[in-house]
Amino acid sequence: MNNPEDLYSLCETQTNGCWEIPGRRWFVNANKKAYPKFQCEGKNWRAHRLSYTIKNGEIPEGMCVMHKCDNPWCVNPDHLSLGSVKDNNQDREQKGRGRAGRTFAYKPQPKQRILTNEQVREVRSLIAGGMSQRKVCAKCGINRGTLRCILDGQTYRDVV
Ligand SMILES: [Zn+2]
Repeated sequence: MNNPEDLYSLCETQTNGCWEIPGRRWFVNANKKAYPKFQCEGKNWRAHRLSYTIKNGEIPEGMCVMHKCDNPWCVNPDHLSLGSVKDNNQDREQKGRGRAGRTFAYKPQPKQRILTNEQVREVRSLIAGGMSQRKVCAKCGINRGTLRCILDGQTYRDVV
């Protein structure tokens, strides 16, 4: 059993000031977004929410913890702020528009299979047929990281 504060002892400070939990302790929410997971007090926490709670107390109902640094793996409390779900969506949209390229990549989740073999084959054939990565992601309901892992052969290598 972990204590909440153990979260920080696990972290590695990145050059951009982000504190990331190394390793592959991913937690995937209903939107198939991956967040680092941290278990303590009998509960699976999304690590950034736990970090916010440690420093600032309980998260009010209906609010979410946003990353100012736009790095889902970061648990540095200085990089976290509280917002409504609406703020979070707006924030993501603005950042999505304003950025030339994202500064982080979704990391592969080797043990997790969210797609069927048929879906993997479809993804590959759409890409091979010249469809843009963005369109393929939208069509197949996957994120860019998942797509990249498929194309790089990091995941679903056994699907032929
Ligand atoms: Zn950060």
